[in-house]
Amino acid sequence: MSKINSLEKSGQIAVAHSDYVFRADGLTATPRKAMSAKRRQAIFTEHCTGHNVAPCCLCGRPIHRHDDQWTIEHIRALGLLGRDINTNCAPAHEACRREKDKADLARIAKAKRMAMAGAKKEKPARGFQAPAGVKYDWRQRRYVRVATP
Ligand SMILES: [Zn+2]
Repeated sequence: MSKINSLEKSGQIAVAHSDYVFRADGLTATPRKAMSAKRRQAIFTEHCTGHNVAPCCLCGRPIHRHDDQWTIEHIRALGLLGRDINTNCAPAHEACRREKDKADLARIAKAKRMAMAGAKKEKPARGFQAPAGVKYDWRQRRYVRVATP
């Protein structure tokens, strides 16, 4: 059972964060708080390479603060346990973000599938294996050496 799922089951996340986001696909993500305009502009300024120009973290082309539609992107998606801190954020074109969101949804779905597959793995029925060169003889009811060829 993955950490996210178990926290989800026990309700710990929902209790801890009143603004907790439940996604349509049922996967729980890092709580997404509304980003303030001030923080958004501050992150843009941190990435500026020129006057009111910063590179898009997705396509690398310049974003113009006042002329382009842009957003703050989480470099590692919240759904993939990325943290909502400024160093995980960078400006991106609105159009680029929509493209990345599609790709992230696929990766998040895969991460969830793999977590489920890992949880299902059962431990082997028997932990004991006879050492090399012996086998159990049912008539003698004990381990006997096997003649090695
Ligand atoms: Zn872009």
